Amino acid sequence: MTQALLTLNAGSSSLKFSLFTLDGDNPQRRYTGAFDRGGAPGEVAITSVDDERTVLSLETPGELASAFAAVLDWCESRDDFGEIAAVGHRVVHGGMNHTAPVVLSDDVIASLAKLGPLAPLHQPHNLEGVAQAQAAFPGALQVGCFDTAFHRTHPFVNDTFALPHRFYAEGVRRYGFHGLSYDYVSGALDPSVRDGRVIIAHLGNGASMCALKGGKSVGSTMGFSALDGLPMGTRCGQIDPGVLLYLMQEHSMDADAISNLLYKESGLKGMSCLTNDMRVLLASDDPRAKEALDYFVFRIQREIGGMTAVLGGLDALVFTGGIGENAAPIRERVCAGFDWLGIALDDVANTASKPEVSASVSSVKVLVVPTDEEGKIARYTADLLSLSA
Ligand code: ADP
Repeated sequence: MTQALLTLNAGSSSLKFSLFTLDGDNPQRRYTGAFDRGGAPGEVAITSVDDERTVLSLETPGELASAFAAVLDWCESRDDFGEIAAVGHRVVHGGMNHTAPVVLSDDVIASLAKLGPLAPLHQPHNLEGVAQAQAAFPGALQVGCFDTAFHRTHPFVNDTFALPHRFYAEGVRRYGFHGLSYDYVSGALDPSVRDGRVIIAHLGNGASMCALKGGKSVGSTMGFSALDGLPMGTRCGQIDPGVLLYLMQEHSMDADAISNLLYKESGLKGMSCLTNDMRVLLASDDPRAKEALDYFVFRIQREIGGMTAVLGGLDALVFTGGIGENAAPIRERVCAGFDWLGIALDDVANTASKPEVSASVSSVKVLVVPTDEEGKIARYTADLLSLSA
């Protein structure tokens, strides 16, 4: 029976997976599934390409480890696809050296575990997924695909902080994240667009932007951690480090309390005192929801301005992620600030979230490209599988 390939994409409190069968070395998606601690903490919901739905109950609700176990058990129990030949893992941090996906040997896994302090909310979960997948499918090739890899092309000035050099040497750098999404989206662009000066705005619960020149990442709004840059669903985005000193000194907050505040209680949710759900915020009359949206749009515009300067102009602006792909009013508000740059939207195309939403007179193409991180992981994993055959 046809071999299968599994992709695991674990966040700090969520898991997305896809199950592909291999047609030669081409992955064909058969199932997708998700667990979200903030949504339905006791279950993994699975949908087949034919829209059949299955719900798995977790042994320990709310636990990511339990979600991994449920997904792996489900894969083992199925008889409608063949053996799992490979598992592709999204691994958030590849550190200074990983610029491409790799086969996860014991040595590589040990080196990735050492990067845990650089991404404490993600890296340990990603490696937990690797350990469980190794135990469930000992014969399968395990592949790590890094969120940081796409950005290792940043020039020094966009890779550093103005700290004493020893910190740069030990790895305190601007890594940038969402790399698998940027990799997928830039690969989906027409080469005539991709090879120009491009900004991709990945706007989801996590949000960041990437500046691309000649198809390579030259800048990202995220830095050392996935906290920097744009305000997000529950993360603060850029913040004056003096605020952190103030919180420590005046509110006696320790690292755990500050981490919880910045990652989980801030951003759109913290500012609106309502929710991180963009659909609810757009429909709300609450003045604090309006302030949160004003700030979100303002920061995106600020970063577009900065990136356009660094790129020396702009040929295309690309929106992706749950908000970027679906929230026409946000795209409209962001673009409205750039008449001076020659950006003009086609309102009908924008309202319908068409692939191209700029007007024919626009001097910058504005595009909407649905992202597919799991598809990218599957492609890389299938490539390494055929190399290892
Ligand atoms: P994650 O970073 O968790 O993968 P997503 O990319 O799925 O997040 O994006 C989630 C965000 O997208 C939420 O704020 C959600 O409200 C927003 N979103 C999804 N669909 C729509 C829509 N039709 N209109 C506006 N916002 C939307």
